[in-house]
Amino acid sequence: MNSSLRIGTIWGFPVSLHLSWFLIFALVTWSLSSSYFPAEYPGLSMGVTVLLGVVTSILFFLSVLAHELGHALFALRNRIPVKGITLFIFGGVAQIGEEPRSPGAEFRIALAGPLVSLALSGVFALAWLLDRAVPYLAAPSEYLVRINLMLALFNLIPGFPLDGGRLLRAVIWKLSGNLLRATQVASISGQVVAFGFIGLGILAIVNGRVMDGLWQILIGWFLQNAAASAYAQVAFEHSLRGLKVDQAMSCECDTIPARTPLVQVIEEKILAGGRQCFLVANGEQIQGLLTVEQLVTLPQSKWRWMTAGQVMSPLGRLLNVRPDSDLLAAVQLMESSNLALLPVLDHERALVGVLSRQKVAEYLRLKSQLGM
Ligand SMILES: [Zn+2]
Repeated sequence: MNSSLRIGTIWGFPVSLHLSWFLIFALVTWSLSSSYFPAEYPGLSMGVTVLLGVVTSILFFLSVLAHELGHALFALRNRIPVKGITLFIFGGVAQIGEEPRSPGAEFRIALAGPLVSLALSGVFALAWLLDRAVPYLAAPSEYLVRINLMLALFNLIPGFPLDGGRLLRAVIWKLSGNLLRATQVASISGQVVAFGFIGLGILAIVNGRVMDGLWQILIGWFLQNAAASAYAQVAFEHSLRGLKVDQAMSCECDTIPARTPLVQVIEEKILAGGRQCFLVANGEQIQGLLTVEQLVTLPQSKWRWMTAGQVMSPLGRLLNVRPDSDLLAAVQLMESSNLALLPVLDHERALVGVLSRQKVAEYLRLKSQLGM
């Protein structure tokens, strides 16, 4: 997630706070110190209620972090990489590197988070039993029992991308053997849950509880987006499965001499010829790739006196794939390294084509138009 502040590393992955987290931390602290603690302990000075509010709020967000660590631990145990954990305005998210490979793994990873929250709720209940006679400890304990229980129950709502939705997906996946179908059902139920939140939010606003209502609408909107994009992602990956790079690569890049001035490439090849990518050669030898994207990032003043050879990406430095590489893995490589294209080299390391995101998208569009 962008605009995040890294606060540490656990088990080899980074833990970060998204900027929006500071807003929710301030809001929770403020509501605890301005209404919850003054109601529980009348007559307490403001300094003490603020201190209680901050400490309780920190314990609450550590509880959210523990929930996400539960997911991360089980992902790692199932040999799935974890990219990091980010706390943000709606809670936390453990960024799991790839889709679980089996319904069993999905089930365990999804269940781990709510189980941690339930266990924490129990721990704070025990603390409450022990400390309820001690002034100023009972109310924070009671709050943490309730909030962790809510965290577990809320996440168990069976709508994707909530943990409950993932459990639902794992069960349908196990029963049907079809991940795409299971994701579709979990995503639809996630969207029903999302619209439920939006509906509740509108009702709350009509009844005069404007802040509660706006909050529920925001959560619903967030869930709706996440459910829809989770399905789109799985559908996209599904459509690439089993395909090889040479089925979607392009062999239509023009070869141009390295000393060609950029202005000539733009006028004769791009504007007049409609070409998007070029193999830059020195004599017979292909030395690099040049794309429209690279030219767009250059100031126009440089087009006149720079050559293709000066601007190209040298072949040796680019990541590359083989014609028989898995297309899905190649697309994931482009996404993770933020590349618009990859050279395709054969076993003798000769260039046989170029794979671009645009070409993959075109290939998939054509396939679906042909009903394949
Ligand atoms: Zn969770």
